[in-house]
Amino acid sequence: MSDAQDNGLQPIARGSAFNGLKPIVSLYVHIPFCVRKCPYCDFASVPLPHPAAERYVDAVISEARSLHCPEATRRPRQPHPPALRQAQGRSPSPLAERGWSLAQPGAGGEVVLAEHGDDGDAALSEAERAAVGPTFATVFIGGGTPTALPADELGRMLRGLRSACDIASCAEVTIEANPGTLDTSKVEALAGGGVTRLSVGVQSFSDETLRTLGRIHSAEEAAAAIGLARSFASFSVDLMFGVPGQSVAGAVDDAARAAALGAPHVSAYALTYEEGTPVERSLRAGRVTRLPEDVELLMFESVGKTLEASGLARYEVSSFARPGSQCAHNLNYWNRGEYVGLGAAAHSHTGGERRWNGRDPSEYVDAVLAGRSPVAGRERLTPRTRYLEHLLLGLRMTRGVDRARLAEFAGAAGETELDSRVQRQADAGLVEVAGQFLRLTRRGLPVADAVIAALA
Ligand code: SF4
Repeated sequence: MSDAQDNGLQPIARGSAFNGLKPIVSLYVHIPFCVRKCPYCDFASVPLPHPAAERYVDAVISEARSLHCPEATRRPRQPHPPALRQAQGRSPSPLAERGWSLAQPGAGGEVVLAEHGDDGDAALSEAERAAVGPTFATVFIGGGTPTALPADELGRMLRGLRSACDIASCAEVTIEANPGTLDTSKVEALAGGGVTRLSVGVQSFSDETLRTLGRIHSAEEAAAAIGLARSFASFSVDLMFGVPGQSVAGAVDDAARAAALGAPHVSAYALTYEEGTPVERSLRAGRVTRLPEDVELLMFESVGKTLEASGLARYEVSSFARPGSQCAHNLNYWNRGEYVGLGAAAHSHTGGERRWNGRDPSEYVDAVLAGRSPVAGRERLTPRTRYLEHLLLGLRMTRGVDRARLAEFAGAAGETELDSRVQRQADAGLVEVAGQFLRLTRRGLPVADAVIAALA
């Protein structure tokens, strides 16, 4: 690997605290609506119109408020600093033990919410926010297609999140945008709501490839969306390769075009045939022909070389950035940082636990607005799970896994740092030790998913 691949990326959620007082976490907000379902997509998203769409922003803001005021639906107008709750003899949650307050479902599974108006009439004061909630250093609004919401709803959601949560003034705030749903009124609403980074789902600059993918937008609209994205501090372009009918030259052309349009960040993913999706059914039925494996591999390498030659260094298996433009939010995931998820299907990782909300948007909205918990499951992380997560998430970054921390996790889990499965991948030339890091080799990068699956 070249030195350029070791970007010196530091985890944002560890070490020196953002404000010296509180741990730093990320906030994820899931918007599960799309104009139309793409045939390859297995994300948690449903097509519009949908009965839950109108009340969805209310539910997200309510869930955000519950991060601060877990008792509030029962006693809505009283402040609930952690010290008061502990003085009342309640067991502190893992977060409360760390000085945070985050809603935990009660015995009946209910989540308790603050009484509020549409987006801020019961907002906590700056001092209250700072006293009871985590500081969010990054926010990522993903989907689905967040920009499928109307401009006024996007603005209302952003104002509501800011009034409910302590979002750092210098936070990276990303929102995903589909070029077929973006216009100047939405861009104004997003910029006015503090969005700093637009992640544009271009996928390709070829109309033919876009048609094969069933995208709702044209190549021209994709280029226009990038024009709009330039008004933000940063933006990212999502590309897809390995699409049936696509040539290596076509995939390279897409990468070159994204770089030429000045993208500070590009994510380039191979098309995957997820079980149960229409495209996977078409593949099984012989209506679609998958590109040969060696062509997909050549695309992976050629797209990477094109982006790197344009100054976008690969820092994760599928992610490329100009210096200083890496996605801090995703780095926090890969470094096993903590995050809070809001919305249907959103996942959270805090206090040594992972938990997730139910996927159904209607059930999510009904639950939250009725004062019940949207949480569908939770898992307390064992030492072995932590070790595996550190290994498998860290290997996605080109820098690799910090071996000192890996050894800590391994020791706690009763493992050796390089257990036999890791050693087998090293013997096969797919992972290597490089100084303080364990990382994928150049041969291992294109087959990262298979290497990681073999280690899981
Ligand atoms: S726009 Fe994105 S989230 Fe929506 S269906 Fe297509 S791939 Fe899935």
